[in-house]
Amino acid sequence: MKVMKFGGTSVGSPERMKSVSSLITQSGEPTFVVLSAMSGTTNSLIEISDYLYKKNPEGANEIINSLENKYLKHADELYTTDEYKQKTKEFLKEEFNLLRSSTKDLFTSFEEKCIVAQGEIISTTMVVNYLNEIGIKAVLLNALDFMRTDKNSEPDPQYIKEKLEELMVANEGYQIYITQGFICRNAYGEIDNLLRGGSDYTASLIGAALNAEEIDIWTDIDGMHNNDPRVVDKTEAVKQLNFEEAAELAYFGAKILHPTCVQPAKYASIPVRLKNTMSPDAEGTIINNVLVKGKIKAVAAKDNITAIKIKSSRMLLATGFLRKVFEIFESYQTPIDMITTSEVGVSMSIDNDSHLTDIVDELKKYGTVTVDTDMCIICVVGDLDWSNLGFETIVLDALKDIPVRMISYGGSNYNISFLIKEIDKKQALQNLSNVLFNN
Ligand code: ADP
Ligand code: ASP
Ligand code: MG
Repeated sequence: MKVMKFGGTSVGSPERMKSVSSLITQSGEPTFVVLSAMSGTTNSLIEISDYLYKKNPEGANEIINSLENKYLKHADELYTTDEYKQKTKEFLKEEFNLLRSSTKDLFTSFEEKCIVAQGEIISTTMVVNYLNEIGIKAVLLNALDFMRTDKNSEPDPQYIKEKLEELMVANEGYQIYITQGFICRNAYGEIDNLLRGGSDYTASLIGAALNAEEIDIWTDIDGMHNNDPRVVDKTEAVKQLNFEEAAELAYFGAKILHPTCVQPAKYASIPVRLKNTMSPDAEGTIINNVLVKGKIKAVAAKDNITAIKIKSSRMLLATGFLRKVFEIFESYQTPIDMITTSEVGVSMSIDNDSHLTDIVDELKKYGTVTVDTDMCIICVVGDLDWSNLGFETIVLDALKDIPVRMISYGGSNYNISFLIKEIDKKQALQNLSNVLFNN
């Protein structure tokens, strides 16, 4: 079994849905397909929810109506027979009536998650109907029947595996299974999701549950580039990445992959291939267990970072001090990304500043606290084992004109990270590309 995941742009129009269908059928082997919502739809569904939170049903209805018109037009373009046009339009009518019904009552995060889930429910139904119309035996398995998170909002791999196997047995005889990315149920059985970009995570969890031979992530670019193509000129696709390297890049901002999507594939040792739907013959990137010795592979950046420094004149790092500091972050469910320490102080960086004021108030009990906002983590990834000589000099030299607030190395053998001001990000990424990849 092979897993193929197609992102929003890959299913972004009736034409693209046809191309995706042909890529699925060309593979010629049993395939489990994960689809995102059509590009732009999840954003529109979030906009609808925002209007409803603000008790503005007119604003919500305006978006619902224009989205419905767009989808009805897509149905006319995608299907050739009246039977499938009708069938899909009836399904769309039900979907949009469901959205309209949310504009009447009390609106909470429960209703929001239900609304946001409809993008993937619509795209998968449209593609399955198209495959069936052209005579392909494909079946839709509802992700809400097997994809589940636990009380810590972490996926529950045992439950996913059991339920998925049951569903596959109940639907024996199909070569193509299709499901929704992103959406799931939580520990209380409510509709939930795996956060923005979460369809990659769905694909990786399914690949691990089915012990797939490969997980292919199809997107709108020819693989993981050696730097952020939205910021830097002349980036290039990296042919191969180790699981650890890919995980660091995804976590530290390479948007092509959801931050945690590499983990399930890594633990199950299933190779992940990144491919371009617009250019299917391009080689793409393979992510596997192989480690190329001594090579720096890529650079990524994570925005919206806040740095917090706590400084005391006393012997700060006495036993138990770091535990107290970490407990403050833990009690506000705020993960720390980078950390550096000295005799008198500790600096940490966080990307979730929703409890910043409370955290700072509590930290003040232990010393003077300084906060720097609008910062950015630059992460250089590759085989950076400490026995490899000289890479620190090369990387630091590339950043010699940029003020660096923190440096972190040694937490993993695959990454060296720098905290800089967000306004210096473009320059830092470009300098690193020039020095490391001869741009
Ligand atoms: P999908 O909708 O298929 O999930 P995404 O928009 O989530 O696609 O991810 C693909 C985009 O990620 C690319 O279009 C590119 O702009 C962006 N991106 C950011 N960093 C990188 C990188 N290092 N390599 C490739 N793409 C990247
Ligand atoms: N549709 C969801 C989003 O836009 C999930 C995904 O595309 O991966 O975030
Ligand atoms: Mg994505």
